[in-house]
Amino acid sequence: MHEFGIAYDIYATARKAALERNARDVREVHVEFGEMAMVNPEQVAFLYDTLIEDDALMRGSRLTWSVIPPLTRCTCGYEGSERFVCPRCGKFPELVRGREVMVTHMEIEVDDE
Ligand SMILES: [Zn+2]
Repeated sequence: MHEFGIAYDIYATARKAALERNARDVREVHVEFGEMAMVNPEQVAFLYDTLIEDDALMRGSRLTWSVIPPLTRCTCGYEGSERFVCPRCGKFPELVRGREVMVTHMEIEVDDE
């Protein structure tokens, strides 16, 4: 399943980042979903919740997200969000952004030194 692989990647990325920062607890993991990634964020969040159940560090963290609109660019110089037909020249524009799924920030608790 597409969403499971994505949820697992988010979990693994967030866990690694938390360990690198010596986190004691992770409160929130924020993800940006490109609109063109064709992912159902609710489903990813559900799978994420099942993945963190048995993980002492990640358990209780909340997955939040935002959906990023696509950005396309055309050889004629057009830049915008038209995905299929360039409004200026009618060609097929290139997708610059919109397919990515990225952990953009996290809220963690760190032990006092
Ligand atoms: Zn164009």
